[in-house]
Amino acid sequence: MEDSKNKDPPKTCTRGTHEVEEQCAEAGGPLTSYTGCTKNPGHPQFIPVYEFNTDHVRSWTPDEGHQTADEIAGAVKCFAETVVRIRVPLISDQRPDTWADGRGYPFADRKGWRLNIAGSGFVVKVYGQHDGLEGPCKCDNCPKGTAEENKYWKILVVTARHVVYGDNEARACEVVFFDDQSDGSGSVTLTGGGAVEGGDTEEDGCELAWYTHNRKLAHRLKNLCNRRSEMLFRWFEETRVVVRSPRGKKRRLDVSPRSVSPATAVVISHPHGRMKYISLGNSDPDSLSDVKPYPFTYTVATCPGSSGGLVLPLGTHYYSFWFKPHSFSLSGNHGRSAGGFFYYC
Ligand SMILES: [Zn+2]
Ligand SMILES: [Zn+2]
Repeated sequence: MEDSKNKDPPKTCTRGTHEVEEQCAEAGGPLTSYTGCTKNPGHPQFIPVYEFNTDHVRSWTPDEGHQTADEIAGAVKCFAETVVRIRVPLISDQRPDTWADGRGYPFADRKGWRLNIAGSGFVVKVYGQHDGLEGPCKCDNCPKGTAEENKYWKILVVTARHVVYGDNEARACEVVFFDDQSDGSGSVTLTGGGAVEGGDTEEDGCELAWYTHNRKLAHRLKNLCNRRSEMLFRWFEETRVVVRSPRGKKRRLDVSPRSVSPATAVVISHPHGRMKYISLGNSDPDSLSDVKPYPFTYTVATCPGSSGGLVLPLGTHYYSFWFKPHSFSLSGNHGRSAGGFFYYC
């Protein structure tokens, strides 16, 4: 991702309220233990990952058959496993004061402060085959003198750039995988050693890298990324139309009108820094009208902590390639994704 300072501004510059949890004193656990939310009191729209099933999909897209509903439920759960919580303990001096349009950048008034902000992100790729990568590792705590010292993997996570701005914040932050249960069981935490691989301030996207010697974690995430890719390519094959030119020489790909429902959308995130939740809603069809790296918009329940979480449009299966980080609440639960291309297959 290249920074967009010298490019035309994104098609939609409208920015609303960022959805970073500003004081995340207590991470994980269910939302029922969080009181004081004024945006979505009681959080009835948020479904714990372990409860999510085909019935939710069927009530959300009642026109779909059993097989498609099962397929969508399986896909959403696969995507959900890649979603992470990110806690950032300090606000870097590297943050800009304003966006390009002159409006204040999130936390610009608190640069240098120690806060405990929390957002979300998702794994896009794991580098390293079965035995990992070769060469010097960049993690902060290589297990020196052990057989694992030279076996490591690089995990690439995408979030919104206003959640983790630069290397200072990335190095200090904590990323938590698989925090799906009320008691936090099964979660895996990496601290230290994070780095920004690429970022685009105006598009609000950020790629973070973590190096780890945790073979089990790397293999599990790699398998999830592979499953996601296979599923997306299968859907692409199902929904594309191959058209021959009048002379019969060229082929071009187009998108068939086959739809799983007109404009469904899913957000998977860690609202208020708690455990992982899935919320369902609709994307705005007009915002998905062309294959361009622009943000899209949707009406799906989100709360502080959802910034950087995964937004999956399902207007057609084809659009699922466009999964991106949640960027802002434009108004209430009407949200906007980051821009740029983020699909990794
Ligand atoms: Zn809330
Ligand atoms: Zn290392």
